[in-house]
Amino acid sequence: MKKCYICNEGTLEKRKVDYFLLGENLGKFEAEVCNKCGEQFFDEEVDEQITKRAKEKGLWGIMAKTKIGQAGSTLDIRLPKKIIEFLDLKKGEEVIVYPEGKKRLIIET
Ligand SMILES: [Zn+2]
Repeated sequence: MKKCYICNEGTLEKRKVDYFLLGENLGKFEAEVCNKCGEQFFDEEVDEQITKRAKEKGLWGIMAKTKIGQAGSTLDIRLPKKIIEFLDLKKGEEVIVYPEGKKRLIIET
């Protein structure tokens, strides 16, 4: 039996698992799952399938760096085109923003 590459204690079992990317379920994929730490490993072929599915769903390469700008006394954040298209955002549309802890900003449409 294969040992887990991460915790080095558990053993790996083949299982089909749900794969989530940016909160969307991409479907079930064959993985080796550690019975101790729960880490999941995908082989190269499965990895390609996941990438393909992510591209089909428009989720590939959507995460991006952006900079905070200034508009008068407030700050604004430029949203990359891919995110605008994915969420179908329009100028003037109202969204709700709030922090989640000190490191994360949530924008809800
Ligand atoms: Zn492990």
